[in-house]
Amino acid sequence: MRKKVLVVGAGASGILSAILCARKGAKVEVYEQNTKIAKKILVSGNGRCNISNRQLSSSDYFSHNPSFVNFALQSFSFDKFEKFCNEIGLFLNVLDDGRAYPLSNEAKSVVKIFEDYAKGLGVIFHTDTHITDIKKLMKDSDAVIIATGSRAGEHLGGNSNGEEFAKEFGHTILPSYPSLVQLHLNSQIVKKMSGVKLSAEVTLILNGVKDISVIGDVLFTNYGVSGFAILDISQAVSSALIGYQAVDISINLLPAFNMQKLAQHISKIAQNMPTLTILDILVGIIPIKVANGVLEELNIANTIKDKEIHIKLAKRIANLILNWKFEVFDTHGFRHAEVSGGGIDTSEIDETTMMSKKTKNLYFVGEVLDVLGRRGGYNFAFAWSSAYLAAKNIIH
Ligand SMILES: Cc1cc2nc3c(=O)[nH]c(=O)nc-3n(C[C@H](O)[C@H](O)[C@H](O)COP(=O)(O)OP(=O)(O)OC[C@H]3O[C@@H](n4cnc5c(N)ncnc54)[C@H](O)[C@@H]3O)c2cc1C
Repeated sequence: MRKKVLVVGAGASGILSAILCARKGAKVEVYEQNTKIAKKILVSGNGRCNISNRQLSSSDYFSHNPSFVNFALQSFSFDKFEKFCNEIGLFLNVLDDGRAYPLSNEAKSVVKIFEDYAKGLGVIFHTDTHITDIKKLMKDSDAVIIATGSRAGEHLGGNSNGEEFAKEFGHTILPSYPSLVQLHLNSQIVKKMSGVKLSAEVTLILNGVKDISVIGDVLFTNYGVSGFAILDISQAVSSALIGYQAVDISINLLPAFNMQKLAQHISKIAQNMPTLTILDILVGIIPIKVANGVLEELNIANTIKDKEIHIKLAKRIANLILNWKFEVFDTHGFRHAEVSGGGIDTSEIDETTMMSKKTKNLYFVGEVLDVLGRRGGYNFAFAWSSAYLAAKNIIH
């Protein structure tokens, strides 16, 4: 008798579980609420899809149960995943830092190849079909795989349905929060710097104490900040915000300078070129909108020049450029987040099979679980490897 497997959600983890079950002879049907499958894969990596990473380890993930991912990542390693992709005709380009992309550099080729291959194996996709009753699916099948993802990217289908399903079966849900997400700052001046992008060092300050630092792009926006450095620090920020901690970030706009060197540079230029205003001097160092922002924050007229720019004032300016503190009062929310932290407590899921420890033949894979990866292909990597384990256990 062929096993019947029903999958809820046609994202990365749902499609791969369906393929692997069907490959071993199961009759597989996938339910997807959107009119098209895999919307998140299509937009991922800015349309290029950072599909995985050659260097995978549990240290690339955040979870209340950090070792949970180990078995999955070891069982379906990057090499195994790449071999599978090659077998189905999807070739990868692996960058020096380990990030992998489809060779075509197009996310749509990933979706097309996976979809065509799944359909060729007889997988049936029911799109435009929103599932609400898991117990009914359980009665109609040998196994049900919940692959409904998280609330991140609400316009792409992100929701908390998977958590609600898990709750019905007695699972514990850990509070979810947006991650890989932009931040809202309590500052009017930031709005005036909107559109400026620079490479900076961002340090998280929790309850007044310095925490992690990240170097990378920072983009000022009309609500706060975006850019890779901000996305990279956002997990720590967002989880602290839901824990009601006081969260600030300090931005060093010129990481290559130290305070003394920068202050001396400013006062030396003022001495050598007395006709230059302080704004003229700063635009030789930082973008003009930021220069104006710095002066406004310090209440310094942008027209002062010559002897008015004494070393004490230069030090105040240098100090702000290297250590500009902003209060973070919110994130840009689930709609704009790439992923979400929290979710189904993994201590209630068998890490070797992804089966619920509470209900036989019910599986949870991908981002619906309390597993959150760093930026760099780690989220897809867990979606693939958790899907692999579920399928392997169903069709052994
Ligand atoms: C803009 C963006 C860019 C990203 N870029 C990358 C990247 O480059 N690399 C990377 O590793 N990760 C990236 N991610 C994260 C990655 O997309 C997710 O971690 C991954 O898609 C999770 O896969 P999943 O299968 O668990 O869930 P999803 O891909 O979210 O799939 C879940 C599916 O279930 C469907 N669904 C939900 N509820 C129901 C229901 N009740 N009935 C029927 N269907 C339902 C949803 O519509 C959705 O299609 C990105 C995310 C976003 C939003």
